[in-house]
Order: sequence, then structure tokens, then C-alpha cells
Amino acid sequence: MSVLIFIDINEEGAVKKTSLEVLTYGARLAQQLGVPAEGLVLAPVKEELAALGKYGVQTIHQVQNEALAHFDAQVYTKAIAQIAEKTGASVILFSNNTDGKALAPRLSARLKAGLVSGAVALPETANGFIVKKSVFSGKAFADIKIATPVKIITLNPNSFTIEAGAGTATVTPVEVTVDAPKVKTVSVNRQSSEVPLAEAERVVSGGRGMKGPENWGILEDLAKALNAALACSRPVADAHWRPHNEHVGQTGGAIAPNLYLAVGISGAIQHLAGVNRSKVIVVINKDPEAPFFKAADYGIVGDLFEVVPKLTEAIKQL
Ligand code: FAD
Repeated sequence: MSVLIFIDINEEGAVKKTSLEVLTYGARLAQQLGVPAEGLVLAPVKEELAALGKYGVQTIHQVQNEALAHFDAQVYTKAIAQIAEKTGASVILFSNNTDGKALAPRLSARLKAGLVSGAVALPETANGFIVKKSVFSGKAFADIKIATPVKIITLNPNSFTIEAGAGTATVTPVEVTVDAPKVKTVSVNRQSSEVPLAEAERVVSGGRGMKGPENWGILEDLAKALNAALACSRPVADAHWRPHNEHVGQTGGAIAPNLYLAVGISGAIQHLAGVNRSKVIVVINKDPEAPFFKAADYGIVGDLFEVVPKLTEAIKQL
């Protein structure tokens, strides 16, 4: 019995921040269950894996296999299933990010393991295994009992605080038997913003109120001053003002940063569905009746073309 934590590696070979959250969560859960916490790395990595022990994981299984050089959900699922069976994992954890959402359901079907996606807290294990998850686009919570011997959980990004101690993990090489991916990666395009949107602690987002792509410079300056990622509403991406990977909402990405700064966005329900788990929402809109103000923690009623440069200057002075 163990808790097996999938460690997500980005294309630059670095451990994703969301993985540090899952490592902390997994270590705490393992402690609660009285079993070891073990990490699993499939992709090529440039970081010192033993150092991840400071998040509470004792062992890291590292697979080095050419077939796993780039993320492929089918090949990765097969590899994780083999390691889970070899290590006798009783709980398998992922981040509820794009990779985790692709892997967890496939693994659930393969291992016949119950899955709860989008967990927001440690499971209650005193009487069964009950996982709290966010439902209805963050408007409510549901407690779900997993009854299968092997359990899979995906953890919502930014819902668990990363905690680091002083430990070191033992890194053990493991082998898997997988076929080459059926899809070949020909090139990898970097995201437009320097901070990946899904992992960002702060997000500056623009809507149709920005009037056109030529005006995005003021948002880029603000994002830079805040060390934030850029996002946008759907009409902005549909009009090709910004790339589609920045579009958030019901049909775009769902994010939960510590700060979401919405500029010239009306706050339609479909937009809110992707951002209402943000810890603090700040809205800049010239219309005091804009629906977004109802969901905001702080609001500025004013012309964004006047407010945003002043805000950026004020932040730079801090
Ligand atoms: P608008 O609604 O046009 O709002 C622009 C805002 O900018 C206004 O509030 C205006 O007051 C303000 N403004 C204008 N000029 C200024 C200025 N100078 N200074 C300050 N403020 C200014 N939308 C999403 O975003 N994400 C989704 O995932 C999504 N999915 C959808 C799915 C479905 C099935 C449907 C039907 C719709 C979906 N939509 C989605 C669209 C959604 O309903 C809204 O149409 C959209 O969010 C509006 O985008 P917006 O706020 O940028 O534009």
C-alpha cells in the first residue's frame, strides 16, 4: 500500500508548480493513512529529483524511456498502470490540470479504480474514503465516497498550500514496457505568456472592452509588473486578438489563481464559470452595472485606458 504521486514535468524539463501542490497533498495523505508517499516521473527532467523529498515524499520512481519523451496520454497511462501495479499503490494522485485530466480517467478505466476529479481538500479517512470536490463551476462542494481498493484523485490547482521541509527522496530507476506513441511531436510552441496560465498565482485578463489587439501592451505591462499570466474572454480569442490558450471560462480554461484582475470584461456567467474559484477578484470596468462587480472583491469603475497605466505605475513604485 502506498500513495503514488504523478509528477508533471514541463517541456523544459522542470517540475510543474502544480506537482509541488500534489506532492504536499500526497505526503500529508500518506501520513494520514500510515503508508509511504512515492513520486513518479516519466518525462525527461533536468532538476535534481532527490530534492523533492522536502515535500514529504520518500521515494521517487524514475522511468527513462524514449517513448515517454513527450506527453502522450495513452502511452503515459500504460506506464503509470504498470508502476502502480508494481508498487502496490492504493491511492494515485494527479493535479487536475490538462495532463491530469487526460490521464486520470484512462487510468481509472484501466485499473477499475474509483476516481474523484477536482478535489479541494484531504480525504476524510476515518469512516471510508470521502473526497471533497468542487461542483457546479465552484458554486458548491460534494463529498464523494470512493469504495474501490485502488483510488484515484485529481487535485484542483491552487487549492492546497505547498509545504516544504528538509527531507531528501531516494530516486529509483524503474522500467516499463510501452509501445512508441502513435502521435509524433514535431514541434513545441511556447505559451505566449511567460508564466503558464494554469499554474499562475496572478492573472491579468482582458475582454472586449480592450477594443483591439493593438491595445494589449498596457495589459502586458501590468502583467509584467505583477509577475502575472495573461488571459482573455472568449470573444477576444474568437476574434484572434489573443491566442486560444488564453481563453478562460466555461468553454476555455478553468483557473484558480490567488489574484484575477479582469479588465474590460462584462462578467457573463460563462466567463465566471472558469474564474470564480480565484481567491481575490479585481474588476476594472467603466460600467458600474457590469455583472462582474457582483463577483468582485474589489472594483474600479473607470476607463481602463486611464486606470490600467496608473495601476501599473503604482505597482512599480511598491
Ligand atoms: P462584452 O460582454 O462585450 O463586455 C465588454 C465589457 O467591457 C463591458 O462590460 C464594458 O462595460 C467594458 N468596457 C468597454 N470599454 C471599456 C473601457 N474603456 N474601460 C473599462 N471597461 C470597458 N465567454 C468567455 O469569456 N469564456 C467562455 O468560456 C465562454 N463560453 C461560452 C459558452 C457558451 C455556450 C456561450 C453561449 C457563451 C460563452 N461565452 C464565454 C461568451 C459570454 O457569454 C460573453 O459573451 C463573453 O464572456 C463576453 O466577453 P467580454 O466580457 O469580453 O465582452
